[in-house]
Amino acid sequence: MNVNAGYFWGGVAIVNTLIGILCMGVAQEKGYSAGHFMYGLLLGIFGLLYCVGLPDKILRESIEALVANQSSSNKSEKSQQWKCQKCGSLNDSSYMFCSRCGTRAPSE
Ligand SMILES: [Zn+2]
Repeated sequence: MNVNAGYFWGGVAIVNTLIGILCMGVAQEKGYSAGHFMYGLLLGIFGLLYCVGLPDKILRESIEALVANQSSSNKSEKSQQWKCQKCGSLNDSSYMFCSRCGTRAPSE
């Protein structure tokens, strides 16, 4: 082995370590473990590409929570309240008559 080869692999090790740190940052940003450092260290730029391509866990979970929240609140508004035709006040579905003016609930 000559000296140049030693410099080459030394350089690769340093670059891969830096890429590993980038991988760890990208992966943690998306909700993955710090162990993704190893992808960058072992695979270099390919490991980084892999980490960049990972689906975003945090983003997906917050979108799913938002969608679930919205559909459930829409449902509860429709099924649990009715609007008085006379005064416009919202009443719980358990009330047969408007709590404000006493008008009977519209039958559906
Ligand atoms: Zn009313």
